[in-house]
Amino acid sequence: MALEKKPLVVCISGPSGVGKGTVLREVLRQEDRAWVSVSATSRPPRGQEENGVDYYFVSQEDFQQMIAADQILEYDEFCGNYYGTPRAQIEARLDAGYSIFLDITVKGALAIKKALPQAITIFLAPPNLQELRSRLEFRDTESPEKIVSRLSQARQEISQAPQFDYFLINESLEETSSAVQDILYVERLRAFRRAVAIQSIVEKF
Ligand code: 5GP
Repeated sequence: MALEKKPLVVCISGPSGVGKGTVLREVLRQEDRAWVSVSATSRPPRGQEENGVDYYFVSQEDFQQMIAADQILEYDEFCGNYYGTPRAQIEARLDAGYSIFLDITVKGALAIKKALPQAITIFLAPPNLQELRSRLEFRDTESPEKIVSRLSQARQEISQAPQFDYFLINESLEETSSAVQDILYVERLRAFRRAVAIQSIVEKF
């Protein structure tokens, strides 16, 4: 069925360290025309991160100018830094018929849903906070103070999970990515169903 691959807008949120990026990479292996939004951030690059690939790394001032110029579709402040979705790239990919995946904060996902009501929101939770702490420590990309700050942000984000369309506990990469693929499948069938219903109404005129 051709419409199974209908373009979708998918926001994945959840606490830092829960594994959003890893799950997304796995899911994208099964997608044809999919694109992951590259955010702008005022956070400095860490590890092997590349400008224009992982993020657009900009100064705090440049970020504020982008907001003022309406170049940012949504943004949030997370642990002292700005993170935002550049508007132009989303519009271009939507026009080109791509599915768009966004790895963003809770506030960001809810803002995207407001701007693009067809967006699907998925919340990924850790099995528990101790596990999240271990993952952040194992990742070894943040100082101990930053880990504390990200864990306190995590509690706050998890409390907002009921506002999402889907809630998954990330116990294993395999199970979670397969659950996300099931969600995409069902959402494409729903989109197909809506398209068929509209078609049958139009045909009566
Ligand atoms: P990190 O510093 O670990 O790369 O990202 C911190 C948080 O910012 C993550 O939860 C990530 O999902 C979120 N984030 C990344 N890009 C964006 C964005 O464009 N908008 C919003 N609202 N959050 C973002």
